[in-house]
Amino acid sequence: MAEYERYEHDVLVIGAGGAGLRAAIAAAAEGTSVGLVCKSLLGKAHTVMAEGGVAASLGNVDERDNWQVHFSDTMRGGQYVNNWRMAELHAKEAPERVRELEAWGALFDRTGDGRILQRNFGGHK
Ligand SMILES: Cc1cc2nc3c(=O)[nH]c(=O)nc-3n(C[C@H](O)[C@H](O)[C@H](O)COP(=O)(O)OP(=O)(O)OC[C@H]3O[C@@H](n4cnc5c(N)ncnc54)[C@H](O)[C@@H]3O)c2cc1C
Repeated sequence: MAEYERYEHDVLVIGAGGAGLRAAIAAAAEGTSVGLVCKSLLGKAHTVMAEGGVAASLGNVDERDNWQVHFSDTMRGGQYVNNWRMAELHAKEAPERVRELEAWGALFDRTGDGRILQRNFGGHK
């Protein structure tokens, strides 16, 4: 019979991309013991492929940028079948999460005066 190593945790996160890692950080910050499981190599999730940018209404290059525009783009892009409350929270909280990533050392392209650079992607007003 095969031998298995057994681990016990308060919280088990499945997936070690950006979503899973951020969930694990949040759970650990609450003082829980966290286990993280992924089926690919750790650090090789799709998240590390994303180098084009991240959508968040930072308002760094266009003063009309705000969470409502991001929310409306997200709902329209989802053909209005999105969970509107999740889209609202996403649009409202994205800037803070991006600044958090910046403070943790994530690299971003910069505007001339040193702020995180922004440009339009598909679906962005
Ligand atoms: C080439 C490429 C370029 C991209 N560029 C951009 C970009 O510029 N900007 C942008 O915003 N988005 C971009 N994206 C999309 C973006 O990468 C994803 O939307 C985002 O990374 C998803 O994050 P996630 O944590 O949900 O999933 P992922 O990063 O895909 O992580 C999923 C995790 O779950 C694990 N997993 C899956 N199934 C199982 C299972 N059954 N059991 C255990 N573990 C499992 C995987 O091993 C992995 O660790 C790009 C995607 C690709 C592929």
